[in-house]
Amino acid sequence: MPTHKPDVLFPVLPFAVVSQPALGISILKAAVTEAGFAAAVRYFAFDFAERVGFQSYDHLAADWGRVPLSGDWVFAESVYGNRLPPPSRFLAYLKTAYLMPAEEVPDEALRRLGVTPAQYFLKYVWPVMLEARKLAPGFVEKWAKEILALEPRVVGFRTSWQQDCSGLAVARRLKMSPRPPIIIFGGTNCHRDLGWHWLKCFPWIDYVCTGEGEEVFPQLLQQLLRDKEEPHIPGIVGRQDPHPSVPPPVRNLDDSPVPDHSDYFHRVASSGLPPEVGPTCIPIELSRGCWWGEKCQCVFCGHTPNDMVYRSKSAGRVLAEVKRFAHKYHPHFFYCIDAALNKQHIGTVFAKLGKSRSRPRFACSARADLTRNELRTLKAGGVGFLVPGIESFSTAVLRLMRKGTTGIRNIQFLRWCEEVGIKTKESWRILCGFPGEPIAEYERMAKLVPLLTHLNPPNGVIPINLLRFSPHGLDPKHFGLIDVRPWPSYRYVYPFGRKKLEGITYHFSFRYADGSKPLEYTRLLRRQVFKWMKLWQSSDGSHPRLDMRAAGDDVVITDTRPCASHRTQRLRGLAAKIYRQCDAVHSLPTLLRVFDGHAHDADVREILAKLVANKLMVEDGGEFLSLALYQQGAGRQRVPSAS
Ligand code: SF4
Repeated sequence: MPTHKPDVLFPVLPFAVVSQPALGISILKAAVTEAGFAAAVRYFAFDFAERVGFQSYDHLAADWGRVPLSGDWVFAESVYGNRLPPPSRFLAYLKTAYLMPAEEVPDEALRRLGVTPAQYFLKYVWPVMLEARKLAPGFVEKWAKEILALEPRVVGFRTSWQQDCSGLAVARRLKMSPRPPIIIFGGTNCHRDLGWHWLKCFPWIDYVCTGEGEEVFPQLLQQLLRDKEEPHIPGIVGRQDPHPSVPPPVRNLDDSPVPDHSDYFHRVASSGLPPEVGPTCIPIELSRGCWWGEKCQCVFCGHTPNDMVYRSKSAGRVLAEVKRFAHKYHPHFFYCIDAALNKQHIGTVFAKLGKSRSRPRFACSARADLTRNELRTLKAGGVGFLVPGIESFSTAVLRLMRKGTTGIRNIQFLRWCEEVGIKTKESWRILCGFPGEPIAEYERMAKLVPLLTHLNPPNGVIPINLLRFSPHGLDPKHFGLIDVRPWPSYRYVYPFGRKKLEGITYHFSFRYADGSKPLEYTRLLRRQVFKWMKLWQSSDGSHPRLDMRAAGDDVVITDTRPCASHRTQRLRGLAAKIYRQCDAVHSLPTLLRVFDGHAHDADVREILAKLVANKLMVEDGGEFLSLALYQQGAGRQRVPSAS
C-alpha cells in the first residue's frame, strides 16, 4: 500500500461487491498513473462487510429480494439525518412490495427455510438493514478521517447501483473539513444529464464526469493540479458550466490502460473474506457498447447512445491481459463484462485459448444468436457459463422488444448451449409487460414451458423496469406508459420533491395507458417457470432429460420430462430423418424442398404434426425444431437433398 500522499484517491464504498475488483476504478487508477499522477484506491467496502458479515453485506449489495435501494437507504441517514421519513414509513412501503404467494417463491434457499419473501424480509433482511444503518455514520467518519490523513488533492467517487449514498455521505463529510479535497463523481448514475442534476442536488460535489472517464479524468487532473486552471473538458461538468456536456466515447479500446487490480488483492489478503464469497473472478472487458443496439436499441435497454457505440480490443491485447491476470492472480474464472460479445473474438481469442495449455475459465454474456460451432469454440476456449440474452419464447413479444430474433431460435440456442456443455442455469429471465403485448402469448408460453424442462431454466418471469435512457424511458407516452415517476423508494433515500428527484432518478415506476396488469396475465407462466426451476434444484444434481441417440438409421429418444408421453421412443425411416434434419430450425418450405423426391409433402407434414403432438418437436410461425439433445455418437448425418 502506498504511504505517500496521492494526487487522487478512489474510495470503493458499500455496497460495491467485494467478491471481485471494481473494474472501472482499476482502469481509472491505471489511466491517471500512466499520466504521471500518484493514485491510491481504498476498498473501504471490506470494512463494512467485515462488520455486518459477508453474507448480509452480499444480500444488501445484490439488492436481495428486490428491496429497491436498500443499500442506499442504509447510508441515506448519514447524508440527510432526520430530513428523511422514519424507518417505519419505509418498512410500511416495503411490506406492500412483498406480497408474492408462497407457491411462487423462486428462491430455493427460502423454500428450504419454509418462508415467503415477506417473512424472510421481516425476519432476516430488515433487522440487518436497521443494524447496518446504525453503523453507517461511524464508518463514514472513519473513512473520511482515513482519506483526509492521506491528504489527496482530489477524491474520485463512483456512482453505481447501491453505492450512491455511501459516496455522498463520505464526500459531504470531507467537504466539512478545513482543507477539503476536490470532489469528483462519475459512473453510471452520473451519465449524461444525470450528472448535471447531481451537481445541482449535492452542493458538496465540485465536478461530475458524465460518461467514460479514462481519457478525460487524467486531462482534468492535468488542468486542475498542474496547469491550475478551471477545466474546460467535454464531459467534465463543474458548477460554473452553464450546460451539461458528454465525453466522446473512447475510440480505440487498445488505448485504454490495462486495469490495475493490485489494491483489491492487497485488501483481500488482509480480509476475512470467506472462500465461498470471493475473490470469485476477475472482470475483463473485451469490447464495449453493443453492435445490435447501435442500429436498433432494445426498447427496455437503459444504455445511453455513447454506451452503445461498439468498440473492441484487438485479440492480441485481450490475450495479453488474460495471460497477465491469470499469471498474477490465478482467478477462478474471468467474467467478460461485454454487453454483446464480438463474434470475431470467438475465432481469434477463444480459438487460441482453446489450444493453450493453461486454459483459463470464463463466464460471459451473449446475444442468443451464436451458432453451435461458435458455442463449441467458446466452450473449448474455457467458457463454461453464459448469460444469454433470451428474454422471451414469444416471437410477437420479441418483436415488440426489438430483439431481432424469434422464440424458436431462443430455444435452439438454449439447446445448443446444453449440448456443447455451456451452462446457463438461472442466468437469464423471461421479461413481461411490454406495452401492447398479446396476452395469449403468455398462455402459449405457459403450455410450451413443460416441453423445455430438460434445458437450463431461467430465474423467473420479471416485469420490465422503466430505465431512464431506454427507448421506453425516453418516450414513455409513445409506448403507452403513463404516470411515470421515480421509484417510490427514492423518497425514503433523498428528501427531495418530485421534480428534483426526477433529475437524478434512473429507475421509474409507471402504469399502462390500457390498464394492463402483467403480473395477473403471466400468473400461469410464472407457475410453470417456477416448476421448471424446481426440477433443476434437486440436491443430487439430477434433472429431466430428453436425449436422442442413433441406432443405425433410427433415432432412439429417452424422455424423463414430467410431460413425457413415453419414456423411450424409436423414430424410424422418414421420421428419424426429419427429426435429425430439424436439429437446427427449419421452415416448412425448406423441409419440403429437402425431402422433395424422397417423400410426399403430405407425409412430411403428417410426421411433423405427430412429432409436435408428441412434444418432441416445437413449431413456431411455420418453423420446426427438434427438442432432444444429441448424445455422443448420435450421428449428425444430414439427409441429402434431392438435388
Ligand atoms: S439489451 Fe442487450 S442486445 Fe439489446 S441493445 Fe441493450 S445491450 Fe444490446
